[in-house]
Amino acid sequence: MNTKKDIRALSKEELRDFFVKEGDKAFRGNQVYEWLWVKSAHSFDDMTNISKETRAMLEENFVINHIKVDAMQKSSDGTIKNAVKLHDGLIVESVLIPAKNRTTACVSSQVGCSLDCRFCATARLKRMRNLNPDEIYDQVVAIDKESRLYHNRPLSNIVFMGMGEPLMNYNNVLKAIDKITSEEGLGMSPKRIVVSTSGVPKMIKKMADDGVKFKLAVSLHSAIDEVRTSIMPFNATFPLADLREALQYWYLKTKNRITYEYVVWKDINDKQKDIDALVEFCKFAPSKVNLIEYNPIDDGEFQQASNQAIDKYVSQLEKNNITVTVRRSRGKDIDAACGQLANKS
Ligand code: SAH
Repeated sequence: MNTKKDIRALSKEELRDFFVKEGDKAFRGNQVYEWLWVKSAHSFDDMTNISKETRAMLEENFVINHIKVDAMQKSSDGTIKNAVKLHDGLIVESVLIPAKNRTTACVSSQVGCSLDCRFCATARLKRMRNLNPDEIYDQVVAIDKESRLYHNRPLSNIVFMGMGEPLMNYNNVLKAIDKITSEEGLGMSPKRIVVSTSGVPKMIKKMADDGVKFKLAVSLHSAIDEVRTSIMPFNATFPLADLREALQYWYLKTKNRITYEYVVWKDINDKQKDIDALVEFCKFAPSKVNLIEYNPIDDGEFQQASNQAIDKYVSQLEKNNITVTVRRSRGKDIDAACGQLANKS
C-alpha cells in the first residue's frame, strides 16, 4: 500500500498553496499542474522545467497514480475495448467506438455497480469502489490516444455508459468532466458528453441545480412501474413518478431535452400497453427515444423483441411527434457492447 498522497487529487489552488508553504512560488504549482493534466506526465522526472531538487521533494511527498491499459481487444467493426488496471489492481473497462465522422469513448464511473438491472452483465459484479476523477479522466485520455493512433483523429464524444452508475459517484464524475472540458485538460465541449443514468431522482435535480452543460440520458426500458421494477429492481426505491418529476425539473432548469434508452424485449415490454405508457412518459418533458439492441448476456432469459414489435414502437412514437432512433450495437464480438462489460478477460 502506498501511503504517499496522490498528487492528482489536489486542485490547482491546493497545488499552488503547497508550493508556497514549501517556500517556493505559487507559479510552480501551475507548472506542475500543467504537467499532470495537459501533458499527462507519468513521473516527476518527466517534468523537465522543474528543478531536480523540487522533483525529488515531490517524489518524497506524492505519487502519480496512473491507470494502465492492461489488455486491449479489437472488434471486427473497429471497436476497441480496454481493460484498465487501477493503482490498487482493480480493473474496469472502457470502449472506443468509431463511427464515420466521430470517435466515441464509453467510460466507466465505478468498479462494478451497486444497481441490479437484471439484463446487465456489470450488475453481476459487486460494486467495489467509486473511481477517482483522475481515473475517469485517464480512461478518456487513453481512448483519445488510441483514436489518434488507429483512426487518425482525436476523440470527439464521450458517453458515461461503461461500468457503474455515474450519479452514484456524482462528485467525482463532475470533477472529471470539469477537467475534460477545461482548457487545462482536454478542452472538449460539454455538449459532446452524455451522462447516462438509471435514474436517481435526487441527483438529477442536483445536476440541474448545478447548471451542468452535458447531456442527460436515462435508461428507462419501461414506463410502467411494475414492469420496470421487475427488470430494474431499484425502481421500487425510485419509482417512475419521482423520476418523472425530477426530469421535469431538469428540463425547466436546463432546457435540455432528455434521451431515453430503451430495449424492447420479447414478452417483457413488447405490448401495446408498453408503447402507450412510453408515449405518455415522453410527454412530460421534451425527449427523444433511443431504441437500443439487446446484447445477450446469459442463457436467454431476456430476448430481443421481434422486428415487428420494434417497428410498432417506432411508428407510434413518430406518430406522436417523438424523435426515435434505432441504434445498433457495436463491438459485440469482444463483449464490448452496452451491458456486456464484466471483466471477462
Ligand atoms: N448505469 C448507467 C450507465 C451504464 S449502462 C445507466 O444505467 O444508464 C449503459 C446503457 O446500457 C444503459 O442504458 C443500460 O440500460 C444499457 N444496457 C445494460 N445492459 C444491456 C444489455 N445487455 N443490452 C443492451 N443494453 C444494455
